[in-house]
Amino acid sequence: MDEEMMAIAINEAKKSIKSEDVPVGAVVVMNNQIIAKAYNQKEKTNNVTAHAEILAINKAGKKLGRYRLDDAVIYITKEPCLMCMGAILSARISRIVYGAKDLRYGTSELATNNKFNHKCEILGGIKNQECEALLSEFFRGLRRKNESSRKTKNQFQRDKK
Ligand SMILES: [Zn+2]
Repeated sequence: MDEEMMAIAINEAKKSIKSEDVPVGAVVVMNNQIIAKAYNQKEKTNNVTAHAEILAINKAGKKLGRYRLDDAVIYITKEPCLMCMGAILSARISRIVYGAKDLRYGTSELATNNKFNHKCEILGGIKNQECEALLSEFFRGLRRKNESSRKTKNQFQRDKK
């Protein structure tokens, strides 16, 4: 079940690449049914909050007519950031399942923090290899692109002289 849903989240994540957004996908599931799915669209929409998780949570809320998503599970291809963890806890989602670990922005330790009145079960590493490959391929491509645009720029400056 977890693997199956993560595969759907991975498919969502792939949609981010078209707009050069970091490939992250999210799926909200309740009673074994998909309520909402979304992908990262930060670049596409010039909106810093347009992470896959936020968009999926918003969609789910709209569909159910309530912001509380008790008993929901959210599947995410990458460990959630601070903003998304805040939204997940506020929505009272009961369980987080993620793929790749995010060493820089990941906040999975907050899911079970005693400070908050809601705790969320969390499990990482589901389809980890696929999720990581998606991210590393994306960043490799981005670096290659930046490099070639730098070369073009240098060429241009040389030509001006
Ligand atoms: Zn996020």
